[in-house]
Amino acid sequence: MNKISEKNIVLTADRPTGRLHIGHYAGSLKGRVALQNSGKFDEIFIMIADAQALTDNAAAPDKVRANVTEVVLDYLACGLDPDKSTLFIQSQIPELTELAFYYMNLVTVARLKRNPTVKAEIQARNFKDDIPVGFFTYPISQTADITAFDATVVPVGGDQLPMLEQAREIVRSFNSVYGETLAEPKELLPDNAACARLPGIDGRAKMSKSLGNCIYLADSADEIRTKVMNMYTDPNHLRLDDKGDTKDNPVFIYLTAFSNDGHFERYLSEYENLDALKAHYERGGLGDVKVKKFLNDVLQEVLAPVRARREEWAKHVPDAYEILRLGGVKAKAAAAKTLGRVRSALRIDYFSDK
Ligand code: ATP
Ligand code: MG
Repeated sequence: MNKISEKNIVLTADRPTGRLHIGHYAGSLKGRVALQNSGKFDEIFIMIADAQALTDNAAAPDKVRANVTEVVLDYLACGLDPDKSTLFIQSQIPELTELAFYYMNLVTVARLKRNPTVKAEIQARNFKDDIPVGFFTYPISQTADITAFDATVVPVGGDQLPMLEQAREIVRSFNSVYGETLAEPKELLPDNAACARLPGIDGRAKMSKSLGNCIYLADSADEIRTKVMNMYTDPNHLRLDDKGDTKDNPVFIYLTAFSNDGHFERYLSEYENLDALKAHYERGGLGDVKVKKFLNDVLQEVLAPVRARREEWAKHVPDAYEILRLGGVKAKAAAAKTLGRVRSALRIDYFSDK
């Protein structure tokens, strides 16, 4: 009998719309690697959402294709391990599209319009009635992606909360109409609130590939240094003696996300920890350049091993694609099982019905 899996299953994904950045690292990638190495999960599916990327990049298939390579290199660089996690490409699993088609019957246009993430993304892209239907309905296809693998845990950044809420609604509605068929997913957010939504180097609320305000995992040491030294800080902290703000200040938010006491010992031992540094900045007398130099040291330390592994994998791109191909075979088998369950729940399993 084909039942909902009782295993502990994780699914998460990234859109191949650009290289991955330190917002992805803090918000999701670091946590995934920890989950993968915790041994607490039976299956971990990591998907490159190329079909979803095409919903708002329909005219740029070559861009999406090129970024599949960038994203898989970023994955392997961060320590995702194909022996422990299944890495695959969304478009290679047509079962996902079929699931999404059936879920569409359970969602209204009004509900999609109310989804806060969809609202924000529509605004950011300035879509009106010209919005591509595929983009408008992507929360539904995202629900297909999650449920296809019976995933109960979905590690994401804070911007994805409304997506998980909508996925749960679709699951409940499907199960109540057709009987218990789909597993209900739950988001897993980073413990550290600074990581859940890392701001851009320009001070905008979210570091995002589409906004061009990123420090990329592939950036060279020089690029990182230049970006950090030019970062937006507290605009009212003009002179050394001015009191400074650390709350809406991306330099301090990055330090909250990435620094630890060991970094203070190694690079800025006159302060015991981040609280001491923040206190000094807030009362005045601490200059931005000093704080930025420290942030640069921290990021260089965190990113150097990631970059080194990336450069190594970049010499073996065909091997990375072989990992994705094999992952796709495994992912397809898992999705086909769920689709079988869905078809019989929908009473369209005509020829397996004896
Ligand atoms: P796009 O602009 O194409 O949507 P994106 O930068 O939002 O790109 P996604 O591929 O949509 O990236 O998101 C992948 C994962 O990374 C999601 O779990 C998302 O929540 C997380 N994420 C993206 N940006 C940030 C950020 N600035 N801080 C924390 N997490 C983030
Ligand atoms: Mg996004």
